Amino acid sequence: MATIPAVMRAARYFGPREFRVVEVSRPDPGPAESLVRVRAAGLCHSDLHIIFDELGGYPIPTPLTLGHEIAGDVVAVGDAVDPSLIGQRVAVFGPAGCGQCRYCREGRDHLCIASRPLGLARDGGYADYVVVPAHALVPVPNGVSDAEAAVATDAVLTPFHALTRVGQLRPGETVAIIGVGGLGLNAVQIAKALGAFVIAVDVVPAKLELAKQYGADRVVDSRQLDPAHPPVDRPITLVADFVGAEATKLLAQQLVARGGRVVMVGLATPGGTMLGLRLIADEVAVLGSFWGTRQELATVLDLIARGLIRPQVETHPLDEIGQWVERLRAGEVTSRVALVP
Ligand code: NAD
Ligand code: ZN
Ligand code: ZN
Repeated sequence: MATIPAVMRAARYFGPREFRVVEVSRPDPGPAESLVRVRAAGLCHSDLHIIFDELGGYPIPTPLTLGHEIAGDVVAVGDAVDPSLIGQRVAVFGPAGCGQCRYCREGRDHLCIASRPLGLARDGGYADYVVVPAHALVPVPNGVSDAEAAVATDAVLTPFHALTRVGQLRPGETVAIIGVGGLGLNAVQIAKALGAFVIAVDVVPAKLELAKQYGADRVVDSRQLDPAHPPVDRPITLVADFVGAEATKLLAQQLVARGGRVVMVGLATPGGTMLGLRLIADEVAVLGSFWGTRQELATVLDLIARGLIRPQVETHPLDEIGQWVERLRAGEVTSRVALVP
């Protein structure tokens, strides 16, 4: 690794509100790991929940390089890894399952009991280089840009898993997507591609406008939405909440039709009110959804390559990450930002 610099930049979390770009030693891959030159790393609202200490005590080690939506080039591998991977363009499967436990064997590697997700439990991709377990590397098909590949790993994968595997969305169903930001805008596209009637709900008019451009059949400002008078006269059989605020969790439970499903993705509030009687008497299922599987990541990369999902992503230099954290927090980012080191 003589030609690879020994020092690099990394945007690191040191504790609540302590997040900045610093110089660190470039890490070396272990025997079953690879070294990836980061080409793009997407900025997720979960990073903000970490930085601003909004995860209700979920343990985040410090210091930690954040960034869990990563794409780049393999530049070195450990002794136990196929050297032909060097030079490959890859997307990183963030949950990085162990491949051995019950969940990994069942194809639910996103729930792996031994997983140490990148950017959450081990150093992530807001850096020049990142060490990635070799089994977390997924090839990027031609025609998919580095920035698209980066956001595919979460901003596309998470809504894909939430709608297809957890939500079991069927063609012709009516689905409400609450929160059409980084994840939700892709959820709109995925639901349309699956043949659903899509209602997009947000509080920012520009985001609702974008949702309309990406195929939403109806757009609604949640501040003007009275759940007693749903915006359509057909049953909303699936509601996916990509915000997770107290208000949106309630709205989701109120909007959903008898016998329907609510899928919870957003993490804005750790707790929230459960409308027990509504859920029981109307047999509403409330389902949690976490990230997605490695196999699903390969699928969404293929869907992007075929133009069936077009993730909206704008790129900015890694050194500007502090500014983009503030702008995402202020609701000023209309799609997804990816940082380029
Ligand atoms: P984002 O900031 O890009 O989008 C959030 C959207 O919600 C914005 O468009 C915002 O205007 C809208 N919004 C805020 N309050 C609202 C309200 N009261 N009613 C309607 N809309 C409202 O965030 P993101 O990166 O898309 O992430 C969304 C959430 O999903 C975050 O909480 C994030 O932590 C979480 N997340 C969960 C998983 C998972 O695996 N479950 C994965 C990634 C992200
Ligand atoms: Zn995320
Ligand atoms: Zn496992």
